[in-house]
Parts: sequence; C-alpha cells; structure tokens
Amino acid sequence: MKAVVFEDVGLAGFHDRAVPACDVGEVLVEVAATGICGTDRAILLGEFPATRGVVLGHEAVGTVAATGPGAGSVAPGDRVVVNPTYHCGRCRPCRRGLPAHCAAKAGREVGVDRDGTMAGFVAVPEHFVHRLPGSVSYRRGALVEPLACVLNNLRAARPRWDDQVLVVGAGPIGALCAMVLARRGSRVTLAEHDPGRAEIARLLLPRTVRVLGPEEAAEPGRPAPDVVIDTTGSLPGGVLGTVAAGGTVVVMGEREAGVATVRLRPLVTGGIRLVGAGPYRPADFELAVDLAQDLPLEELVTHVLPLERYAEALAMLAVVPAGTDGAAPGCGYRAMKVLLTPGGSLAP
Ligand SMILES: [Zn+2]
Ligand SMILES: [Zn+2]
Repeated sequence: MKAVVFEDVGLAGFHDRAVPACDVGEVLVEVAATGICGTDRAILLGEFPATRGVVLGHEAVGTVAATGPGAGSVAPGDRVVVNPTYHCGRCRPCRRGLPAHCAAKAGREVGVDRDGTMAGFVAVPEHFVHRLPGSVSYRRGALVEPLACVLNNLRAARPRWDDQVLVVGAGPIGALCAMVLARRGSRVTLAEHDPGRAEIARLLLPRTVRVLGPEEAAEPGRPAPDVVIDTTGSLPGGVLGTVAAGGTVVVMGEREAGVATVRLRPLVTGGIRLVGAGPYRPADFELAVDLAQDLPLEELVTHVLPLERYAEALAMLAVVPAGTDGAAPGCGYRAMKVLLTPGGSLAP
C-alpha cells in the first residue's frame, strides 16, 4: 500500500508500506478518507513532536477489511470511523475515568508515534472503531473525530442558553465549535485573522455566526463574551480583561512552545475560569457519531484529493515555513478541511 510518511520537519514522503498485520483484538480498516488536521500540520512545522518514519493521519473513515482473532464487534464490509485516541485502561488517569489523559500514551498516538491513517489500510484495536450510521457519508464521517474534540471542549466551557461566545480561529475546529453552538442557540462570533479562512467560514457557516477580524471582534462597544474558546494556541494576552464577569476561557489550541501571559487581576476580580480540556472521552466520540446524523459536517470539506496529491493538500493548508510564501505566519490558507483518499475519489 502507499502511505504518507513523516520524514522530518518540513518533509513528508510518499512510501510503499506493507499492509499492516491484524493482531489479536484488532480490525484492519481499508481507509476511504483521512482528514488533514492541524496536528499533522504542526508536526510538519516542527510544532508538535512526532516519530520520524511514522505514517501520518488520524481522522479516518473506511471499511472493515478483516478482523483479527477475538475481534467480533464489527464485521468485514462495515463502514466505520476510527477513534485514534487510544488509552491503556490501566494507568491511574484511565482508572479514574480520564482516559483522554492516559499516562501511557507513548506508542499509542495514531499518526504521531504509531502508524496513522494516510495510507491504504490501518490496523486498529476493535474498541476504537465505531460503525457509521447509514445516513452518515464518509465525507461527513471524516469530521467525527474533530467533532468529538469540540464536544469535549464545549462541555468544559459550560455555555448557557443566552451566552455570547467568542471562538478564536476559523479553522475546522473553530468552525465546528461555531456550528454546534449556533445550533443550540448561542450567539457566536468567530475571530480569524487569515482573510482566506475568514471568507471560507463566512460562506460555510450559518448566518447567525459573525465572522470578524480579531481587531474588529475586540472593538469597544461589542458585548463582552461570556465564553471564549481559543482554537489557535496563541491565547491573546489581554483576553481575560475582555471576558464578562463569571465567564470562561477554554484553551483548545496548543503547541509545543506555546506560552501565554495571563493578567491575574481580571481572572480574580472577574471570577473567570481558565480551562484546558484536551481530547475527548470515549463517550464524546459516541456522541459525535450520533450528532453526525444531524450536523452537515461535510460542508466544511472544501477539497477531496487522492492520497498521492498530499503535497498539494498540505500547501493549501499553509504548511510552509513561516514567511517563505510571502504570507504572514499563520496565514495563507486556501482550504478548510481537506480529505485525502487512497482510492482516488469519494462519493459525495
Ligand atoms: Zn485531528
Ligand atoms: Zn492509561
């Protein structure tokens, strides 16, 4: 099979790999599509540590091709989505109901330090594949994993019915936050500094979501947000001073060298909660599979490309060292969610 492999910072390659063996309790998934995630981008930009030689990718849908000994919950031919957040089930966080924060992640991070899904096939422990409802296309199902991440972070935000929510960053994660929040009736402002991304978000999202530049979003006279969700990993320094009393700031984006300076007075006097929630619990993933039946997630998919055109796909997502393409760092996006298909095409 062919696979997109992380060779070094700034360098991915297209390699021949053996189809993985299907061990005890595992299922072999023939990948239909893999979404390119901010994490893949961060790995290639040297902002997220990963093992050289690993197959990239973790947001995958496909068909069960074979089941290993003892794996009986799915059958060949089943359409599935992969939950790539593996956990050991034995460490203290796992036993305390925090499997997303498993202490034994090393060697279990799909597409990071264990071969991922930008390939023809991937072998997955059976507990980490979920059948897709018949009404959920692969194009839509490919967004289930980022949706699970969003659901976990929105739960941590605890928004109330009439909250003003500011989502910082209009990438797929920010756009999914806005999509879910708009559905539940929250008033959402999405702040994005990349003009390309802002324009895509304006076209794709419900009209009740206001997409603004960061300066515009912070203009005096705008209602103070009750909830801020930062998806960019660059928590704006003054943000705590702009949040309504009793409000919440959720830090969702992060990167290896990410550091933020927090003014303590507004945190204390405003009774602000500053929250990190990280990845999802297995129950969030199941909820995401359910909600996918009703959320038009595929609207965020702007491009579907054959696997071998991965370099073109990465270029659309501004995976170039800062400044070399003339765009400001963090700018230069020409796509929202890009899917790579080993089969070369994908039914709508
Ligand atoms: Zn991801
Ligand atoms: Zn664990």
